[in-house]
Amino acid sequence: MKTDIFSPLNCALCKYNICYNELPFCAECIGELQRLLISPCRKCGKLPSLCECGGNSGLRFAFFYKGRTAQKLIYAHKTKADSRVADFLAELVVRSSGINPKSYDAVAFVPRLRRNKRRYGYDQSELLAKSLSRLYGIELIYPLERVGGSEQKLLGRAERYKNMKNRFKIREDFDTEVKYNKILLVDDVCTTGATITACADILRGNIARGVVPFVIAKTD
Ligand SMILES: [Zn+2]
Ligand SMILES: [Zn+2]
Repeated sequence: MKTDIFSPLNCALCKYNICYNELPFCAECIGELQRLLISPCRKCGKLPSLCECGGNSGLRFAFFYKGRTAQKLIYAHKTKADSRVADFLAELVVRSSGINPKSYDAVAFVPRLRRNKRRYGYDQSELLAKSLSRLYGIELIYPLERVGGSEQKLLGRAERYKNMKNRFKIREDFDTEVKYNKILLVDDVCTTGATITACADILRGNIARGVVPFVIAKTD
């Protein structure tokens, strides 16, 4: 029978080197991640925790989605369900954004496209939400579902938002009588903010007084 001692874990980023620490990454990739985390905003020159460019002042995120390391990390999180990576990302965003997880009564997530969930066998934002729930003792709730399935890569900002508003709804089986004070809403990457803003609006309109959007990375 194999044990961890005889089959040490490979790095979740480079897939090649062995991890010799409690993180799911090798020493080399940890160095690259550290550089990524202090990479400033191209517009205002501030660190991710302080940047308020793009009008998303309420949006919390850990790093800018640029460069190979950022892409590899998001890709790993999207394509292979690994709770070690999800735990790392959850702690990373909480620490780098300075939020207090204890001040939230629930954590929800932006559900993945159905066909992608089928393809990869899981929902990466649900995985992140599960990590947040487990690590910080926040209740995990499933209020949102997707209505359509179309991609929106070619749409402009205004159309994206309009398009997104009709793409999500509160699940039929979710009890909208229960109200929440402050929900942490998670997703992986934020580009224009249309998706997470639309979902936050739906939650505010139905079950929450306050919603704080929380993503791993934001495009620069
Ligand atoms: Zn590595
Ligand atoms: Zn900025």
